[in-house]
Amino acid sequence: MRYRNIPLLITAACALSACDLSPVPQAMVLEGKTMGTVWRVTLAGVDATRRYALQQAIQQQLDADDGTLSTWKPDSMLSQFNRYQGEAPQPISADMADIVTAALHIGAQTGGAMDITVGPLVNLWGFGPTKQPAQTPTVAQIAAAKAQTGLQHLRVIETAQGQWLQKDLPGLYVDLSTMGEGYATDHLARLMEREGINNYLVSVGGAVLSRGQNAQGNPWRVAIQKPTDRENAVQARVDLQGHGISTSGSYRNYYELDGKRISHVIDPVTGRPIEHKLVSATVIATTALEADGWDTGLMVLGSDKAKALALKQHLAVYLISKEGDRFISWMSPQFAAFLLFD
Ligand code: ADP
Ligand code: MG
Repeated sequence: MRYRNIPLLITAACALSACDLSPVPQAMVLEGKTMGTVWRVTLAGVDATRRYALQQAIQQQLDADDGTLSTWKPDSMLSQFNRYQGEAPQPISADMADIVTAALHIGAQTGGAMDITVGPLVNLWGFGPTKQPAQTPTVAQIAAAKAQTGLQHLRVIETAQGQWLQKDLPGLYVDLSTMGEGYATDHLARLMEREGINNYLVSVGGAVLSRGQNAQGNPWRVAIQKPTDRENAVQARVDLQGHGISTSGSYRNYYELDGKRISHVIDPVTGRPIEHKLVSATVIATTALEADGWDTGLMVLGSDKAKALALKQHLAVYLISKEGDRFISWMSPQFAAFLLFD
């Protein structure tokens, strides 16, 4: 769903390296494209004859997820909801209800910094399906787009008969881009479990989840890369132990406008792209979906507030800030527990 229209970023889809750093011959590596990014599944102890069927099953599932959540596909369930301009509850799938519920929850816990209703602002700044602006949006344009946003205008209704999504602002436009990769990653993990596979490393774009061990019997190693769009140097390595991880970074998905770097992360309060010195936020959580929601919220909040919230909520967080020419990293105690030192 995070269709990156910025050429620089097409290959540098994420700040995490979901490759097992010590691949072994017995590992099966499957790859493909989805949601404008790449997916990768590395498996240990799986018979080579299953390769084709697994590749097909994964691609099919991811295409279906994209067909539900994408704001880039006019026919997706989400696009239909976004086009609808009324207040009557609209039927949605259980999956969609889960994602939106998780998003609203994290939205509230970040004081609205993670806000899936920022769609009109994302589009105004050129990170949605609409084109990049030729000029910096005006104060009036920003105010008009901002008036169409707000988490308080969106509700999930759960009943025994099904799930509905309701808005009380006709122009409300939901953008699940920031959680789609995490959701799809969790969904891949569930597919592996259903297939009876217990040792896997799965990723979609910048969201990763791993369980079990690699073919050598060692922990899967996930690397957090150094925050630069030039090199692929490793900053830290973790063993996820069945958790999800996601990174939000302001240094990969951006463009320049009027001589300024425009980040794709928008501060819902100002209606403008973030500009502070926090350049990347990585979160490990029970699910990749949660990690993918939190990382964006922390990015919006900036270093000081992100640290305070990580400590208050006992989150596993790794932050990288740019101080002058130097990159300074910080991690919460919960994050340190996942670090690998070899
Ligand atoms: P990345 O992994 O590429 O850094 P993120 O997970 O941080 O991406 O998601 C960024 C995307 O989320 C943007 O392209 C935009 O569509 C959407 N977005 C931007 N600002 C916000 C926000 N404050 N809350 C929720 N979604 C946002
Ligand atoms: Mg995110």
